[in-house]
Amino acid sequence: NKITIAIDGFSSTGKSTVAKQLANHLGYIYVDSGAMYRAVTWYAMQHHFISNTYFHVQDLIAHLDQIDITFTFNPNLGYAEVYLNGKNVEKQIRTLEVSGFVSQVAEISEVRELLVKQQQKMGESKGIVMDGRDIGTVVFPNAELKIFMTASPETRANRRYQELLSKGEQVSYNEVLHNVQERDYIDSNRKDSPLVKAKDAIEIDNSNLSLEEQFNKILQLVET
Ligand code: C5P
Repeated sequence: NKITIAIDGFSSTGKSTVAKQLANHLGYIYVDSGAMYRAVTWYAMQHHFISNTYFHVQDLIAHLDQIDITFTFNPNLGYAEVYLNGKNVEKQIRTLEVSGFVSQVAEISEVRELLVKQQQKMGESKGIVMDGRDIGTVVFPNAELKIFMTASPETRANRRYQELLSKGEQVSYNEVLHNVQERDYIDSNRKDSPLVKAKDAIEIDNSNLSLEEQFNKILQLVET
């Protein structure tokens, strides 16, 4: 019997890594909901709706119907990559620059409404692992299994820093830590579906857990 698995938590808690592994193991679909908010952000940057000095929220809202986000499974990577209007934007959306704007874009109710609807549609076929901030609370409130991942800000910043370095981005640890803390603050304090642990979610602090330990822990929960 296939189920719906919601994995929520703060930035860079390693949600997506374990979610992908889990989906592959179970033969489920994996959806990175954060990639959708990042794709909208990338679109807004490309169309000059957002920059360090301005944010034309109404223009972005007026163009939301021009944004088509899809996922296509890449067998070489073992997960689905995100496409914006037919173009693979995996690389573009993972930069620190996009991370710097994404939480402001995710605050817009119209953006959330649109993406939540699309996410719920993807969840109509059972056997899905979705990670994000509001999956267990808003997108799939009836999910059979809800996980809430946490780790210390330093652990998280260090993970994200190593990841960006390995991709050749020129960033400092402090910049990354600042971004992680800022996004957590905005995500937790926004008016529309703020980041909170669902009442029935199981919290896993993975500061001191290996990937394998996290995976086994969640798998055990799936099997019970
Ligand atoms: O998961 P990721 O770090 O890629 O998400 C990027 C940002 O997108 C988050 O910091 C948050 O502002 C937003 N987001 C959200 N709701 C989700 C997933 C992501 O608001 N379900």
